[in-house]
Amino acid sequence: MCTKLRELEEALATFVGDFEAALISAAEADGVMERAARMEYICATLKALAAARLAETELWGLGGDKTPAHMLARRTGQSVSDAARDLETAKALAHHDKTNAAARAGRLSPKQAAAIADAVAADPKAEADLLGLAERASLCELRDEANRRKAAATDLEERHKKIHAERHVRDWTGADGVWRVVGQGTPEAGAKVMAALRGAADGIFKQARREGRREPTEAYLFDALVALAEGEGAPKSRSGRTKVLVRVDFEALFRGYPTGGELREIAGFGPVPVSVVDEILRHPDSFLAAVITKGQKVTGVAHLGRHPTAAQESGLQWLYPTCAVEGCSAPAKEWDHREDWSKTHRTPFDGMDGHCDHHHDKKTYEGWGLVEGVGKRAFVPPDDPRHPKNRKTERPPPAEAA
Ligand SMILES: [Zn+2]
Repeated sequence: MCTKLRELEEALATFVGDFEAALISAAEADGVMERAARMEYICATLKALAAARLAETELWGLGGDKTPAHMLARRTGQSVSDAARDLETAKALAHHDKTNAAARAGRLSPKQAAAIADAVAADPKAEADLLGLAERASLCELRDEANRRKAAATDLEERHKKIHAERHVRDWTGADGVWRVVGQGTPEAGAKVMAALRGAADGIFKQARREGRREPTEAYLFDALVALAEGEGAPKSRSGRTKVLVRVDFEALFRGYPTGGELREIAGFGPVPVSVVDEILRHPDSFLAAVITKGQKVTGVAHLGRHPTAAQESGLQWLYPTCAVEGCSAPAKEWDHREDWSKTHRTPFDGMDGHCDHHHDKKTYEGWGLVEGVGKRAFVPPDDPRHPKNRKTERPPPAEAA
């Protein structure tokens, strides 16, 4: 077996040694990139399966390492947490045939495989959906959905207690002289902290813009953290954009417990148990607001203005915390009308899509568009047959525009 692998390795090393990127066409580069990624993932799966086998024996400890993950990390130049994740995933693959097959065929990156294996351990029925999502969505979107499916199948109250018990903030200054801080806790605590930080950062951003300075959002968030620590408070934003939305299914709220598919989650922060939602509804504060939903619908009516009403905007922020373009995890910044406003003069709640700045520009200046439907979906150039402009004739005109 090792002879066969050595031959493959030598052949590949020879090929890559002679590879001249400057001499190939863009189409070839595209193909090489895709094939190399698949080979990378095939090899990552092979490595993890072999390491997991080694970890079953006594031999992994011969180098004096603390755990099999430490051994794998030291031998391969990975971080210990990545190595631990790969070992866990390799063990889990044996129990999930479709994920196993996809990982061995190189169709999943190690991070995708880990997200799916973790969720499928809690809810085996989620496997096909998550594998399908992995083919078109970003890693961030896949992880969000995997977490949702896992949460729906787990006792959220218990999990929430555990998350709270394991809350922490740690900081250190590295050999490079950089101060770093990491923390973890419940989603509602995180949502409150980030709402306060974003509110303060917004004020700092506006101040900087008035003075003609422009730095990344992350830099202003750090300044906001320092300002809050100094207790003087940063200049407050009046935009109201700092609100945190909690999405609750109507039925689940009144029944007190969720059944399959129902959700209670903080938009952008993930699922929370019913007790947390109760608490929020009983003591509303300036940061949290609940959006109560029925199935996939937030109630809202069409109105005649060009911009969504405040209530509609809350709903839109819930529906599209990120850009509506599949594969894009950037926050939604612009609300676009699905039917051109100049034709309909209406702003129906369910006729809006959230776009990030980049995709909003692509739509506005280059004519790209989302394919028909609602929610996250493909984004195509104007000459694509799925572009809504090219499908107009097949579709009856919307009733309310008449
Ligand atoms: Zn986008």
